[in-house]
Amino acid sequence: MTDLRRALPSVGALIERPAMQALADRLPRALVTEALRAVIAAARAGAALPAEDDAWIRAVESHVAERTRPSLRAAINATGVVLHTNLGRAPLAPAALEAIAEVARAASTLEYDVALGARGSRHVHCAALLAELTGAEDALVVNNCAAALVLALQTFAAGRETIVSRGELVEIGGSFRVPDIMATSGTTLVEVGTTNRTHPDDYRRALSPRTGTIVKVHRSNFAQEGFVAEAGVRDLVPIAAEAGLPLLHDFGSGLMLDLSPWGLTGELTAREAVAEGATLVMMSGDKLLGGPQCGIIVGARDAIDRLRKHPLARALRVDKLTLAALEATLALYREPDRARRGIPALAMLTASAESIRARADAMAATIDARVEPSEATVGGGAFPTARIPSWALTLGGDANAIQARLRNGVVPVIARIEAGRLRLDLRGVDPSDDAVLLSLITAALA
Ligand SMILES: *Cc1c(COP(=O)(O)O)cnc(C)c1O
Repeated sequence: MTDLRRALPSVGALIERPAMQALADRLPRALVTEALRAVIAAARAGAALPAEDDAWIRAVESHVAERTRPSLRAAINATGVVLHTNLGRAPLAPAALEAIAEVARAASTLEYDVALGARGSRHVHCAALLAELTGAEDALVVNNCAAALVLALQTFAAGRETIVSRGELVEIGGSFRVPDIMATSGTTLVEVGTTNRTHPDDYRRALSPRTGTIVKVHRSNFAQEGFVAEAGVRDLVPIAAEAGLPLLHDFGSGLMLDLSPWGLTGELTAREAVAEGATLVMMSGDKLLGGPQCGIIVGARDAIDRLRKHPLARALRVDKLTLAALEATLALYREPDRARRGIPALAMLTASAESIRARADAMAATIDARVEPSEATVGGGAFPTARIPSWALTLGGDANAIQARLRNGVVPVIARIEAGRLRLDLRGVDPSDDAVLLSLITAALA
């Protein structure tokens, strides 16, 4: 014991070695010292001391890599849930990434009107494009759909009542519950109808001089069947209009294209939602729209104008990176087929099952995996009951152990265990990540 301790080198002596000097030249010096100290401490606790310079270099590099690894980093989504909220929802299109880089690297026209040579407004950037694509008069972009709802309720119903169906007091995920958000917005909820049935007359009877607005919330993540009835936006438009109230539609997904040719049916597109006639339609930017996280509000010009002027709009405003990514993503929708192929979330959702099988087959050729049919889901609170035919790699061996190794690889791979076996569904994996995924699986299986 005493002999071994005496044999341990000092950090000071180690750092003087040419090999360590070279490391300290390219890595943060303090972290190299810290790494050397950690290796010595481990040796003192009984671990083997690196024998040669090469082994020292590897030990230091691995320690520094772990210490400098970003907290937020890229991962591979092999869950089969394409728009996975915990995994960052929609991946961005290359055009959106380029737009972010372009705007981020130097000054931009964020709030500058080049025609006037004067101060402009950030709110102009995506408004015209959103109006063009959805058929709405005007648009405003805020931080997310929850923020859109808060802003709209604050503007139209603070200190007043908001009528909403009991069948729509939904929890979207995490801690986002529609009734909580509404309560935070300073409005008093007036719940109408029952969990399974709400009729237009329920809303009519709830109207009072204190009513500020009527809200319609899309049941994003579940479906109701059986003895059910709901008042649609079209039923509520005349009721709100008669009472002189704005009708707010929390539409959620932001679907911009009809995906029924690919088997995804039953959801309205944003344009169809606007055409139903609500005063304002609110949606997320990073769900089916396939863009950056943001909340998009489209609708009547005077209503949007009031939102823009509310002090809260300043607190909920988006940054230039979001606007750049959103504008570039929206621009792709001018050619629907280009949008479908070029926006990763849509490309993943509409890829043929055969193309996914071919990718799985190619990967399985070099690893110990079976290629099996799978069912992917949309995620992101849209098409909650849709099951999209897909293919998965099923790995043999200790599912829990391999799952943990994949999670802790250089790039985390997130996959699910089904019936005791680890399954990697490829529908939510960008094909350009296949090679990386294959090497990560190979490493996890080794
Ligand atoms: C997803 C969703 C929200 C929350 O959207 P965020 O952009 O995550 O804030 C709100 N309402 C509905 C109907 C949704 O589907």
